[in-house]
Amino acid sequence: MRVADPLGEPASTPAPADPAAEAARIAPATQVVVGRLEALAETAGGEAATILITTAAMAGDPALVSQAEQLVTGEHLPAARAIYQAAEGFATMLAAAGGYMAERVRDIRDVRDRIVAELLGVEPPGVPELASPSVLVARDLAPADTAGLDPSKVLALVTEEGGPTSHTAILARALGIPAVVAVKGLLDFEAEALAVDGDTGVIELADPSAPVVAAAATGPIMWNGVGETADGHRVKVLGNVGSATDAQAAADAGAEGVGLFRTEFCYLDAPTEPTVAEQRAAYTAVLAPFRGKPVIVRTLDAGADKPLAFLSPEAEPNPALGVRGLRVAFDRPEIVDRQLEAIAGAAEDSGAEVSVMAPMVATPEEAAWFAERARAAGIARAGVMIEIPAAALAAREILDVVDFVSIGTNDLAQYTFAADRQLGAVAKLNDPWQPALLRLIALVGEAAKATGKPAGVCGEAAADPRLALVLAGLGLTSLSMNAAAVRAVGASLAATTRADCEKFAAAALATADPIAARSAVG
Ligand code: PEP
Ligand code: MG
Repeated sequence: MRVADPLGEPASTPAPADPAAEAARIAPATQVVVGRLEALAETAGGEAATILITTAAMAGDPALVSQAEQLVTGEHLPAARAIYQAAEGFATMLAAAGGYMAERVRDIRDVRDRIVAELLGVEPPGVPELASPSVLVARDLAPADTAGLDPSKVLALVTEEGGPTSHTAILARALGIPAVVAVKGLLDFEAEALAVDGDTGVIELADPSAPVVAAAATGPIMWNGVGETADGHRVKVLGNVGSATDAQAAADAGAEGVGLFRTEFCYLDAPTEPTVAEQRAAYTAVLAPFRGKPVIVRTLDAGADKPLAFLSPEAEPNPALGVRGLRVAFDRPEIVDRQLEAIAGAAEDSGAEVSVMAPMVATPEEAAWFAERARAAGIARAGVMIEIPAAALAAREILDVVDFVSIGTNDLAQYTFAADRQLGAVAKLNDPWQPALLRLIALVGEAAKATGKPAGVCGEAAADPRLALVLAGLGLTSLSMNAAAVRAVGASLAATTRADCEKFAAAALATADPIAARSAVG
């Protein structure tokens, strides 16, 4: 089933006969859209609910409504055209901000089209009602559309655009819908029926008369909540969180703790640095479900794809290679010191067993610099992320100066392959099964064994139940992932012995490409 492309631009004529009455139609139309998105959020839950609530807030933004009203009363535009133009103004601002903000352009345009459809009295764009289970084919899907998909009706999702770490891909994964993104030429292709393998990314023509089947038959996944292999080798199964909602979802899914709390997600819209007291309260709310359990709080990872207004560096020619992550703190250590103070306070308030780690660390010297500050703030355990190839190559020396490391495979892949993780055109290179990436991870596993210190994985790689076996076999001691993947990864480990994990790891390492690496694990 093909998902319709967005609505076109509404006409700027005829001018309304009664501009005041025309302007008065805008606010109620936005409220209808807000109501629909909030209703969807109620049935969605978890990360999907958070995204739908954010999208609903965009639809109800009073600034959007008042700008559109002014365009009707001042320039005599029809209401649909006015909302279109006002939303475009916001989209241009977000696109100019770049990185993570630019990703929201898709969301604001989705909101715009929903309001325009409401004002014109036509069907909203996006996913059609599906009478029977179908494969959805789309140019790209808005996060709000993806979050609202019914996994019992959508057998698979295939898109021409988007990257593997885009919201669409992450949400489809969270819903358990096989998804293949960045399929060039997809929309030029006519097919009556398709067979889609979300693991390998292979799409084939299928016989339209054959019975429709979903290969990954779903049922409740049985897991006892203890991360260990079939023969009792411990590999902790932890949650990735960025908000109190995520933390609750991770706890509900049975996560043994948190392996990555992305603190910057609390401040993406903050115009100024939050005070220590504000930070302490925000972190305490996220840590609350994990009283007595281990939580790794990551200090602000600002810059490149996640700019924070109060930490923006000077304009840089290559922001992904610029002053981002921990580098922001070298010139302004007081920012990280205030954050560490807030984290220490939140640890006390929540009763969680808190460790801290720094993002984007390149050398043992940087790691030591951070660990010293964390300890001075009274935080017992300090670690760093391994997401720059240089850090993987120096894992042994880094582990000598910190208490643990955690591998961010999303950025480690991006920097290893020189391939922007947001870009559909280079998505193949950012495949976490790439043997070259696995070899860097293996170095970190060896360093962990040699030093007897923990080393986890908290990038998307950890959310793949079969790749989790390889990571365990490479010597990683914890895996951290979105809430939806927790049980599947826990169950996968529980069904496999340590010796088999090691066998899979050796077999995957010895391959030359991701497809061979996947089949090596069977
Ligand atoms: C990573 O890079 O893999 C990671 C976990 O950090 P983020 O996705 O927040 O950059
Ligand atoms: Mg990262």
